[in-house]
Parts: sequence; C-alpha cells; structure tokens
Amino acid sequence: MHELRRDILLGRWIQVLSESKEPSEYHFPVDIGLGEKSCGLCAGREMETPGEITSIRRQGTMPNKEGWWVRAIPSFDPLFKVEGNLDRRGVGLYDRMNSIGANEILIESPEHAVKPEDMGVEQMVRVIRLYRDRIADLNKDLRLRYTLISKDSLFDPWRRSSHPVSSLVATPVIPKKIKDELENSKQYYDYKERCIYCDILREEIRVGDRIILETKNFLCFCPYASSFPFESWVVPRRHACDFQEISCEEMEDMGFVLMSILKKLRAVFQGETPLSYFIHTAPNRVPRRNHWHSLGDDYHWHLEIIPRLVRRSGFELGSGLFILTTSPEKAAKFLREVG
Ligand SMILES: [Zn+2]
Ligand SMILES: [Zn+2]
Ligand SMILES: [Zn+2]
Repeated sequence: MHELRRDILLGRWIQVLSESKEPSEYHFPVDIGLGEKSCGLCAGREMETPGEITSIRRQGTMPNKEGWWVRAIPSFDPLFKVEGNLDRRGVGLYDRMNSIGANEILIESPEHAVKPEDMGVEQMVRVIRLYRDRIADLNKDLRLRYTLISKDSLFDPWRRSSHPVSSLVATPVIPKKIKDELENSKQYYDYKERCIYCDILREEIRVGDRIILETKNFLCFCPYASSFPFESWVVPRRHACDFQEISCEEMEDMGFVLMSILKKLRAVFQGETPLSYFIHTAPNRVPRRNHWHSLGDDYHWHLEIIPRLVRRSGFELGSGLFILTTSPEKAAKFLREVG
C-alpha cells in the first residue's frame, strides 16, 4: 500500500510509493560539457566581469586582479536591481512594486569546471565564509527582506557556463516557501514552546533510519515527508535562526558534510547527478522588528539538497501533492551505505 505523509513544516501531504525506485532507474539529461575558452569567470580574466563586491584572496593581492580564492560579483543580467525605490502601489485589485534587490554571482573557485565535492574542504569553507559574509552584509539594507543563496550543479543543461558558482538573490519580499516554514515554525513554537527543527533532529536521531551522516555539529538526513526523491537536509545541531552566526568550527564541519553528501550522491547515481541546494535562514527583520519577535526561538537555519531526478506530473502540479518514487528510508540507506 502506498502511504500519505504529512510534512509538519509546510503543512502539506506527500505520497510515498510502496515500491521504491533504485538509483539506477532514474534518467538524467545529457551533459553538454561547456568549455572554458569563452569563460570570463576564470582566474586571469577579472577585468571582463563587473567589479567585485568582495573576495577572499591571498594577502597582498588587489581587488579585481588574480590571487582570489572566492569572489562575489554583481550578476551580468540581474533579476533584481539595487538602485531605486520600491514604489509599492495597488493596481486595481492587485499589488505591485519595483524589483529592487540584489543579484550576485558567488564564484566558488578560480579554476574552471571544478565540482564542489572535489574542491577540498579548505576551499569549500571559503565558499561557506563568502555565503556568510554576503548574507550578513545584505542584512543591513532596510529595503530587503530576504537573501537566498542557491547552487545548481555543473551538470545542468540550462546553465550557461561550467564555471562553479552559487547564486545570491536578495528580495524585497519573503518568498512563499520560506514564509510557510517561518509561519509553521512559529505556530509550532507558540503551541509547544520548542523549536520544530530541534524536535525534528531529536526524532530523526531517535528513529535513525533516515540519517545519512552525523558529525559533531550537523545531522544530515532525508526528511520524513521529502518533496523529492533523495532530498537531503543538513541541519546544525546548535539551535540558531541566522546562518550568518555560524562559528568557524561549524563552517569547517559544514564544508566536510556538504562535500561528503555530494560525493555520496555521485557514488549512488554512478556519475554526475543534476542537483540544486540552498540555505534557508531567517529573514532580514530590521524593518519589521516586532513582526517576527519569537524568530530567534522558533526558526532554525538549514541547507536543503534537491537532486533533480523527476519531472512533476499534471496531478502533482494540479494538486501540490507530490509523489515520492523512492522512500526517504530507502534513499537514506543507499546514501549511508555508499562509500
Ligand atoms: Zn571558468
Ligand atoms: Zn532549533
Ligand atoms: Zn527549508
């Protein structure tokens, strides 16, 4: 019998099929292998990009010159623009505002086509440090409500370049998925006076069969009501709502955990797997100081990894009820046991 499971964070149902698909039963698009000849993000071509916002670089080297390890630049084709005002207005029945925000490219390495799992922990930690610095900086802009950092794997036919980058988008609104998480966490806290994520961590440790990897500071597991097969979350054991408050020790550990899980996914699928991951952290609450007053207690930052294995059916699009073709327990077992 198939099973319906309720996602306690988003308050929606998903269906887990009784017969779980093996990793080999998923098929991916073909890698189109974009070369580095025309890549302006590689080291040595700094003058071809918009001026850098910040970088982590070797001592004594100058901005917009070689010597960097990671680098943040404005997007070539920004979805949101920094300049201007929001101009919030009603248009008849509807609401509109200008697309004010920030859109940055976080270049993860001076080397072309290196995959995050092959960068080495030291470099991965620099990437995480850049994530932290950019979120902390954009938090100061009172027009912005949320900063989302996301990553699409190199093995993605819709990507324009094979250079390893993450994307940063800061928006003047809190995106719906995050708002749902925030509201449900708040409701849970109001009722139980406990953080829902801390409770999920305790439950996953108690049950054990959805855990992929445990370290001193992080738990990595397939969520009970995953929205996608092989979805994996990396959650810090220490309760904190803001990612930018991550400690140095946690950054090192997170670098290791993220590399390990990406390597495990590559091993389970015997090659490159298209995937995305993103950090969910608390919104920028300076402009609305009283709105999320319990946020520090009820929200808990985390990273979600989504392998892009399936296309949504019409039923899923029409209902919002997602079908899980591999159960989280089976997926976690494959990932836990692979070397
Ligand atoms: Zn490149
Ligand atoms: Zn917590
Ligand atoms: Zn989340």
